[in-house]
Amino acid sequence: MTVITRFAPSPTGYLHVGGARTALFSYLFARHHNGRFVLRIEDTDTERSTEASVQAIFDGMQWLGLEYDGEVMFQSQNLPRYAENIQQLLDQGAAYYCNCSKERLQNLREQQMAAGEKPRYDGHCRDLALEKAGDTIVRFKTPQTGEVKFKDHIRGEITVQNQELDDLVIARADGMPTYNFSVVIDDADMGITHVIRGDDHINNTPRQINIYKALGLPVPEFGHVPMILGDDGARLSKRHGAVSVMQYAEDGYLPEAVLNYLVRLGWSHGDQELFSRENMVELFDLSGVNKAPSSFNTSKLDWINQQYLQQAEPKRLADLLLQRLRFLQITPPDGIDLEAVVILLRERAHTINELADMALFLLQPLETYDPDSDKKAFKESAIEALTTLHRHVEQVSEWADADLHQLIADVVSELEVGFGKVGMPLRVALTGKAQGPANDEIMRILGQEESLSRIASAQQFVRNKFTA
Ligand code: GLU
Repeated sequence: MTVITRFAPSPTGYLHVGGARTALFSYLFARHHNGRFVLRIEDTDTERSTEASVQAIFDGMQWLGLEYDGEVMFQSQNLPRYAENIQQLLDQGAAYYCNCSKERLQNLREQQMAAGEKPRYDGHCRDLALEKAGDTIVRFKTPQTGEVKFKDHIRGEITVQNQELDDLVIARADGMPTYNFSVVIDDADMGITHVIRGDDHINNTPRQINIYKALGLPVPEFGHVPMILGDDGARLSKRHGAVSVMQYAEDGYLPEAVLNYLVRLGWSHGDQELFSRENMVELFDLSGVNKAPSSFNTSKLDWINQQYLQQAEPKRLADLLLQRLRFLQITPPDGIDLEAVVILLRERAHTINELADMALFLLQPLETYDPDSDKKAFKESAIEALTTLHRHVEQVSEWADADLHQLIADVVSELEVGFGKVGMPLRVALTGKAQGPANDEIMRILGQEESLSRIASAQQFVRNKFTA
């Protein structure tokens, strides 16, 4: 048997973290079993579905590299198929027309709630043999006895008494099928063997199984993935920060890091944290999915992203950095080696955006010196240090080949002072701050002219400070 899984989002918003994780689990399960992973857009709710959301789903999946097999299926293009099956159920007496008014249903609901009962349709029209009319909907005749039993790959065995399920609506008055109906027809037509989805659908599954049975269709296997909570224990939502997958792209995360983070959100393999895509495909199994909800943790995502930044090709990161700079409307100086910038700074950055912020001192003129660093580094003795440095830097004839580390060491020995007496003023002169990467590497990136200009400005600044 070829395993076939699907991702079946409703296009009513962006691709959010929870949806992306469900898609990832379905994708990995299919790939692990050398099966197929298909995409179905559940757009029968014409009021809430939008083109932009369909595009957002495509974009998110593409960014994460969740490749699906074959063509995308749109439910809105499959309406005759649902109508045909609804008719079949009507013909075989497994469904019926219902004309209960909104008011009647509302009253019924209120009475049931007042009596402390679960609201459910009371089967008023079940045996009335109503004909189709302008306002009739179609309900499925849920069996009144017996039970539905299924073995969920994540939750274990689940049994629900049919008595607890009411006669659900399968077609609205305008003929549009409801989710619980169209999902069954499509999962059956597409040969889905394993339905992996969020556990917000777990109560729908017994209803869907009854429909499969009424239509004589094979019932797939199910795996219901627990939900994702925010750091505060509430269901993950916008107020916990970014929940749209593409927001992570904008925030400077790498797709492979987000994917790695998502796979660990509710799935584990021993205590391993980092998984390449091949690794995930090889190791993923529904038995490794937690039953309990998982919590979103931004610092863990940052940590994972940082790990991937260290391994990524500098050329690729330089391109991403340039994109970010363009977004910030910053034009890097001509000839600056952005790959070198990446290599210099990435160890400390969690995201490309952070890296861009950290790189600003290399890309834009220095406006000010950090006051604490100024106090610490720009003592009167710094004038001599900076003057000597300036002379040595000026004398370099081949900047590209120069040993700049040795150059600083030469200044230190010429002045017969400790390394800090030269290194510290130089760093503040070059970066504006006392903390930062190695001076020789910074000068290499800035180039000879810019290094000289920054040393000269600092020299002037310290001079002014002590002659004022
Ligand atoms: N369109 C449904 C949703 O977005 C799909 C549920 C399912 O996978 O069956 O929640």
